[in-house]
Amino acid sequence: MWLASTFVGNGHLIKHKFTCIGVELECVQEYTYLGIVITASGSFSAAKKTLTEKGLKSYFKLTRTLGFHYGHIDVGLHVFDHTVKPILLYGSEVWGGCGFFRPKIKRNTVNYKIEKNFAELPQERVNLKICKFLLGLPQCASSDSVRGELGRFPLYIDIVCNVLKYWVRLEKLQADHFLKEVFECNKLLSEYSWSGSIKFLLDELKLSSFWSNKPTNNYVVNRARKSLITRFENMWYENLHNDVRKDKLQKNKLRTYRKFKLSFEYEDYLSKIKNIDARLQLTRFRTSCHRLHIETGRTTKGYTPVSERVCNLCNTGAIEDEEHFLLQCSTYNDLRNVLMSNITDIFPGATDLSQGELFGWLMASKNDKAINSTAVYVQKAMSLRHNIIAPELM
Ligand SMILES: [Zn+2]
Repeated sequence: MWLASTFVGNGHLIKHKFTCIGVELECVQEYTYLGIVITASGSFSAAKKTLTEKGLKSYFKLTRTLGFHYGHIDVGLHVFDHTVKPILLYGSEVWGGCGFFRPKIKRNTVNYKIEKNFAELPQERVNLKICKFLLGLPQCASSDSVRGELGRFPLYIDIVCNVLKYWVRLEKLQADHFLKEVFECNKLLSEYSWSGSIKFLLDELKLSSFWSNKPTNNYVVNRARKSLITRFENMWYENLHNDVRKDKLQKNKLRTYRKFKLSFEYEDYLSKIKNIDARLQLTRFRTSCHRLHIETGRTTKGYTPVSERVCNLCNTGAIEDEEHFLLQCSTYNDLRNVLMSNITDIFPGATDLSQGELFGWLMASKNDKAINSTAVYVQKAMSLRHNIIAPELM
């Protein structure tokens, strides 16, 4: 019985005793009501953490039961969206706009953004964890490349829309409805209340007029979603092209990725390549989750300057980066002859392109044969490289 609980206030035991129908109420730090953990502090952190644990558990239980793994990314995403996401976002129409704004971040500062509120959302960590799992990438893979390959938006966009949808529902209620009365009382509280969050979200998304005009349908929600998507895509693009790092010698890990990844959308090759190992190798190659020296030089002790991350296989002194591996290194000439023969069948003008242009074309191609040929090349060349280079040098 949920009534059989009162909270411990501010860490101190409540002196008074409360009873209900002759039963003394137990004094607790937190209790779960309708699947949401409510704590004495009023914070929903515990609720979000519990939902996250439940969501993660259910996903991996499903993957074990249904047996799908790296081979079916589209199935994995579908299962996530229809069984795990509802768990992660359960009750988000309330907790998404309640106690969410951290006091450290003042709303009136220039750099304040809605997105900053959601930067540490535990649900988002699960979202990314599962996306990396499906792509076969390590957990240290860049989140921007993972989102880019799958065309997956962060969960906060759904959360904000859920909050706004619930607000529309409240606005449409009759004045004497209990929920409506609670909402009207909430409006009298500070700007950090749930209704204060709604007003802030509308102001931020340049939809302020809906606050005074009272929405009668979900048009405002659709407008908000579009705006959040555009904002996110712009931020994602900026991240790809941002080379500012704490360590000034370091550059963006995605310096190659940004050369060919021009739009935020699901990559066709993820569904078109049936050879799973070849597809995994291509994903790792595209997102720079590989062992070529251009990448390992970033993490070696003392940091290796880019000019010293040379290829040990062809002795040309060339830097061993993705373009060298795919189009230049003589070690893989036989494999490259097969690749180029397949490519010129589809696109005879390929030989007239500069190496930079050809690299971009191969990585961005949507042609089945081109995609599969490139993936097989990467798979075989990586294997050859692994066999030649002693593990201690890799
Ligand atoms: Zn080489």
